[in-house]
Amino acid sequence: MKILEIENSLRLAIENQDFELYYQPILDLKTGEIRSFEALIRWCHPDKGLISPADFIPLAEDTGLIIPLGNWIIKAAFQQLRQWIDQDLSLPSLSICINISGRQFSNPDFVTILQRMLKDYPVPPENIELEITEGAIMHREDLVIEKLHQLKEIGFKLSIDDFGTGYSSLSYLQLFPVDTLKVDRSFVSQMGDHDSYEIVKTIMTLAHNLNLDVVAEGVEDSKQATLLQAMNCEYAQGYLYSPPLSTEKATRFLADSQGA
Ligand code: C2E
Ligand code: MG
Ligand code: MG
Ligand code: MG
Repeated sequence: MKILEIENSLRLAIENQDFELYYQPILDLKTGEIRSFEALIRWCHPDKGLISPADFIPLAEDTGLIIPLGNWIIKAAFQQLRQWIDQDLSLPSLSICINISGRQFSNPDFVTILQRMLKDYPVPPENIELEITEGAIMHREDLVIEKLHQLKEIGFKLSIDDFGTGYSSLSYLQLFPVDTLKVDRSFVSQMGDHDSYEIVKTIMTLAHNLNLDVVAEGVEDSKQATLLQAMNCEYAQGYLYSPPLSTEKATRFLADSQGA
C-alpha cells in the first residue's frame, strides 16, 4: 500500500473505531502478583487482520491522526479500568499503563482531555500510568516540566518508556517528576552479554538511588528473570509471563490471578 492509501484507510479506521486495545500484564518480581496492564493498540483491519502499532503509529504521528486516535486509546483504557473496578476484578493497586506519543503529549489540550476522561469514567488517577518516551519530552523543557507537574498533581503516575534508548542527558531525571523507568527490551534481551548486563545493573542502581521503580521490558526467559531479581528489579513484563492479551483474556487473567 502507498503511504497516502494507508493514511486514508487509517483515517477511515479511526472514524469506524476499528481498533482494539490488548493488555500485557506487568508482574511484581517478588510476589508474582500483577501490578498493571500495559494497553497496546491493534488495528483490526477488515482484510489484513490485526496490524501491529509499529506499522501505523509512526504514520499517525506524522499526519496528526495520533490526536483523535490517542483520544480513543485513552478513553478505551479508562473505560476498561472502570469496567474491571465495577466487576470487582481490580485490586486497589492495579493500574493501566497508556502509551503517550510525543505529539499527543505536546498537544495543548492534553491535560484537559485527561481531566475530562476522569469525569466521564471515574477511576483513581493513581491507577493510570502514562508512559512517555525520552524523545517525547526532551524539548521545550520548561513547558514539559510544568505539564508533568500538572499531571502529577491530578494524581497520575508517570513512567519513562524504552529507557536507555533516548541518548539524552540523565539530568532530566532530577527535573522530571517520574515514578518509574521501563528498561528497554534491547538491553534485557541481551543480558547474557557482559555489557548489556552491566547497563541494566547500572540503570537499576541509578533508578533506586533516585527512588524510582523499575520495570524490565521484554523478559523472555527465566534466566533473565533470575538476574533481574538478584538486582532487586521490582517489576517485569514479557513473553515469559504473558503476551499482550485481548480484553476477554486479560479479564480471565485477572480473575485467575485472584483465584476467582
Ligand atoms: P512499547 O510501549 O515499548 O511496548 C512494548 C512492546 O514490546 C509491545 O509491542 C509488546 O507486545 C512487546 N513485547 C512485550 N514483551 C515482549 C517480549 O518478551 N519479547 C518481545 N520480542 N516483545 C515483547 P507492540 O504491542 O507491537 O507495540 C510496539 C510499540 O508501539 C510500543 O512499544 C509503543 O511504542 C507503540 N504503541 C503500542 N500501543 C500504543 C498506543 O496505544 N499508543 C501509542 N502512542 N503507542 C503505542
Ligand atoms: Mg510502552
Ligand atoms: Mg516500552
Ligand atoms: Mg521498548
